[in-house]
Amino acid sequence: MTTPLFFAKRKPRQCPACKSKNVASIIYGYPSSEAIEQAEQNKIVLGGCCISGRDPSWQCLDCQVEIYKEILRELLMEEQKSGSESN
Ligand SMILES: [Zn+2]
Repeated sequence: MTTPLFFAKRKPRQCPACKSKNVASIIYGYPSSEAIEQAEQNKIVLGGCCISGRDPSWQCLDCQVEIYKEILRELLMEEQKSGSESN
């Protein structure tokens, strides 16, 4: 079973999966009080402190689909093809 991956060059206005317009940027790292406030208003999503280098940049607030930057496409497609082998 493979989950479809979504990619975009910049923040999509619409969710590629459900066409919702509630697409928020995901902010990584320790959130500022401003970021927490924006997250409460559903303007952004807090992604946590762990950054793997292949993290989604945006998330649909309605269907929770994650959208990756276009530059990660090859990397992620390659990984999906070869299966998720640990190590
Ligand atoms: Zn959606």
